[in-house]
Amino acid sequence: MNLLNIFKFVLLIFFIFFKALLADQINPLKIKEIANGVYVHIGKHEHFYEEDNVGDIANIGFIIGDNSIAVIDTGGSHQIGEALRLAIKKISNKPIKYVINTHGHQDHIFGNTAFISEDTTIYGHYNLKKFLRERGSQYVRQISEAGDKVKGTSIIFPHKIIAETSSDETKKLSNEIKINLGNRELLLVSHPTSHTYSDATVFDLKTKTFFVGDLVQEGRLPTMDGLTKEWIKLLDEIDKVDYEIMVPGHGKIQTDSTALDETKRYLEILYKDVIDGLKKDIPAEKIIEIAAQSEKDKWLLFDRINPGNVVRTFMRYEWEY
Ligand SMILES: [Zn+2]
Repeated sequence: MNLLNIFKFVLLIFFIFFKALLADQINPLKIKEIANGVYVHIGKHEHFYEEDNVGDIANIGFIIGDNSIAVIDTGGSHQIGEALRLAIKKISNKPIKYVINTHGHQDHIFGNTAFISEDTTIYGHYNLKKFLRERGSQYVRQISEAGDKVKGTSIIFPHKIIAETSSDETKKLSNEIKINLGNRELLLVSHPTSHTYSDATVFDLKTKTFFVGDLVQEGRLPTMDGLTKEWIKLLDEIDKVDYEIMVPGHGKIQTDSTALDETKRYLEILYKDVIDGLKKDIPAEKIIEIAAQSEKDKWLLFDRINPGNVVRTFMRYEWEY
């Protein structure tokens, strides 16, 4: 080998090495401050894990108090969670004491692994552990099918439930708790079955910023994974809260009830169309084709998400209309 060839060879090795290094490198997530000390990353309206997506589809964020930081949802992979953690470190070196999961869907909880090294306490709805146990094998399959781009991702159960309990933790006294980040209190609430059976919200009392998870969505069609009618009822309660900024689980930050109203409108049409179909004895496969079709052009990913919503609504109300 002459000198030039050796040089080329060394260059090639360097090139391969740096390419591998770059592929593995995680950069801080893009975030914006939406209220004093409240930061959000807006997820993309894409399908989970398809093409380049590493699970960056949900809105996730964090709130900084005088003494500590709380993270609200961690994204759809270890990589997104880690990118969020790096974004936080760029802004503050206060301890990340809390992670709060708004519900059990993959795009909101798979980044939890990135916060284990921070000695963080993970909070979730009192049903979240059960939810994750039931979804466990499906979630593990999804992670393994997504391959290397989400390596390190695994299911982490919440350490604590969002509920006030008796001292021996056997009795639930209320479905809410407050956590204090230092001169800043957050109200965490576990809600009855609606979008899923594991939905919780986070309210920052200082700025009246309301993280509502997937109970409200903008742009992307909501996934109905709980009880349609009860979800509509819960949205009426959410609407009564005196918030200034609402962070939906997907889509744009809200300062009024537009996204909430749109989510509710879709759910009402979905419910009505399914019940009408049941009353008229229309077969299930036909109801899937017609239910909520008037909403088709108003939402992204409608054709992917609506059929499942119809099936679940059909199955859950088949015997009680
Ligand atoms: Zn979601």
